[in-house]
Amino acid sequence: MAKKSRHINTRRIKRDYSYLVQEFAECLGVHKNTVRNYIRNGLPVIDDLRPQRIHGSDGIAFINEKQARRKCKCAADEFYCLKCRCPRKAVPGSVNLIPLSKTKLNISGKCERCGTVMYRGGSEAKRAEYIKIFGIEKRAGEHITETPSPSLNCYSGKDDLHA
Ligand SMILES: [Zn+2]
Repeated sequence: MAKKSRHINTRRIKRDYSYLVQEFAECLGVHKNTVRNYIRNGLPVIDDLRPQRIHGSDGIAFINEKQARRKCKCAADEFYCLKCRCPRKAVPGSVNLIPLSKTKLNISGKCERCGTVMYRGGSEAKRAEYIKIFGIEKRAGEHITETPSPSLNCYSGKDDLHA
């Protein structure tokens, strides 16, 4: 039981069933705190239900993607190419930073092997770093400035004001 297996098997998860955190953990053979960690890292939960429930199909998709990414860990200057199904470097000069919000951005670049546009997530705080890593040309009117530290965001996703 103490043995930590690297590969998580999702075969016991049913696609059309909603799992409690504890149940989901048991099906995967992991600790429930591990599942709580998954939730913090983006595993979707069914919003309005307390206690939290995880939909089987969401759980399977999350675990599969997590494991695919772990198998092919991208280096700092690589993207995961969906067509090549492995990490690839981008064609020099093809990399763009696409702001998503005050703190998040997407990085896009063309796969140097197949030309597919690849994406990876990033944070605004690391903008200067990305520019250096990917050799992004500084364009006219674009300033490489450190954004001031983002103000504390109090959004918690909970409907505390529910009457
Ligand atoms: Zn490719």
